[in-house]
Amino acid sequence: YYRRSWSSESSDSVISSEFGSNCYRVVLIGEHGVGKSSLANIFAGVHESIDSDCEVLGEDTYERTLMVDGESATIILLDMWDNKREGEWIRDHCMQVGDAYLIVYSITDRASFEKASELRIQLRRARQKEDIPIILVGNKSDLVRCREVSVAEGRACAVVFDCKFIETSAAVQHNVKELFEGIVRQVRLRRDSKEK
Ligand code: GDP
Ligand code: MG
Repeated sequence: YYRRSWSSESSDSVISSEFGSNCYRVVLIGEHGVGKSSLANIFAGVHESIDSDCEVLGEDTYERTLMVDGESATIILLDMWDNKREGEWIRDHCMQVGDAYLIVYSITDRASFEKASELRIQLRRARQKEDIPIILVGNKSDLVRCREVSVAEGRACAVVFDCKFIETSAAVQHNVKELFEGIVRQVRLRRDSKEK
């Protein structure tokens, strides 16, 4: 699926507009091992916590329509950040194609938290003039005894990033639904302010 949009780069914007205003491409980024694929699997309904059908568009691309605040929204979730087989281009691709981003770190891994800041800067550089919706995601909140990054630090970082913050646990499925609803709301906020 993503190969198709990659091979004809200029068609990306065409595809987005064809999708209409309620279909968003959301990209998972963050250090290896923080739980991106686990979050994607929940979204994909592997554990069936979100009750609607998910279409698997490719190895690491998932599509699902959610009802958020009485309005449906389709998310195309890309989890290809760690896909080394495809080569380096995939990260540049990820930085370019998202309508919104989930920057994930693990609360048990300070290095992954620091990496999240780097990614925020990279993203800002890659998409300079755009006001891209981002949620900073502190995953593995169930591992309380291994915590290396406090909630306050995560929150403060999000203030600096100018983005939203949430702690999740893919393992016990805490706040995962809220995360995907949250990103839809963030996209809508920007859409609505543009219309005014
Ligand atoms: P990715 O490399 O970012 O895609 O991370 P994965 O989803 O592959 O997860 C890496 C490891 O962390 C796996 O062993 C997961 O089972 C584990 N993991 C992911 N999310 C959580 C979580 O919320 N809590 C706990 N305890 N483990 C998690
Ligand atoms: Mg993964």
